[in-house]
Amino acid sequence: MTERLQKFLASAGVASRRKAEEIISAGRVTVNSQRVTELGTKVDPAKDLVAVDGKLVSAPEEHQYLLLYKPSGCVTTLSDPEGRPTAASYLAGVKARVFPVGRLDYDAEGAVLFTTDGELANRLAHPRYGHQRVYLAKVKGEPAPEQLERMKAGLRLEDGPAKALEVGVHEQAEKNTWIRIVVGEGRYHLVKRLCEAVGLQVLRLFRPEFGGVSVQGLRPGRFRPLEAEELSAMR
Ligand code: URA
Repeated sequence: MTERLQKFLASAGVASRRKAEEIISAGRVTVNSQRVTELGTKVDPAKDLVAVDGKLVSAPEEHQYLLLYKPSGCVTTLSDPEGRPTAASYLAGVKARVFPVGRLDYDAEGAVLFTTDGELANRLAHPRYGHQRVYLAKVKGEPAPEQLERMKAGLRLEDGPAKALEVGVHEQAEKNTWIRIVVGEGRYHLVKRLCEAVGLQVLRLFRPEFGGVSVQGLRPGRFRPLEAEELSAMR
């Protein structure tokens, strides 16, 4: 895909777009060894060799963003010292060095984002950015309203205070209840610990979406690249 030379230089980190225009006008840029001074000249980063002052400019690396529907019974990481099944087996064919943003427990299932973009991963992981995580937890029996209220009011866990930002009944079954819990951080076992702290036993844990991107339409164990709009909403 072609793009304007000044945009290419800017996204490759050479200079701001305005400064890149000056560099081009000053005759400091060559494309395939031909000096180019015309602003708006189109280049194909995959094919054309662009140089500034005789030094080649490499195309910015394209990041990968993949949403995996992690099944239960595998670790979220790509390798496991204990030899358990890993997410890597579901990402076969992915050549880029992607890594998971956060973790889902071995027995939990649902949305996990894999990416090569460390900056976005840090932003999504940091509580400062207020990124919310939505979970559906299947709990034994029928929770009393006070139990859910206590989770929302806040509890003291062994690693400090914690709370659910939202909690409510999602679906009532005969012997169990699916509750929907929203939390604002990715602390270890947070949902299970909040539930246990009010006396609710979690039988299943499902994360239907991550960063606003849903696993709907995916089968467990399958992944798909994010759409451009999903990615910009996440940023
Ligand atoms: N909370 C948990 O208890 N487990 C997860 O995997 C994610 C959130």
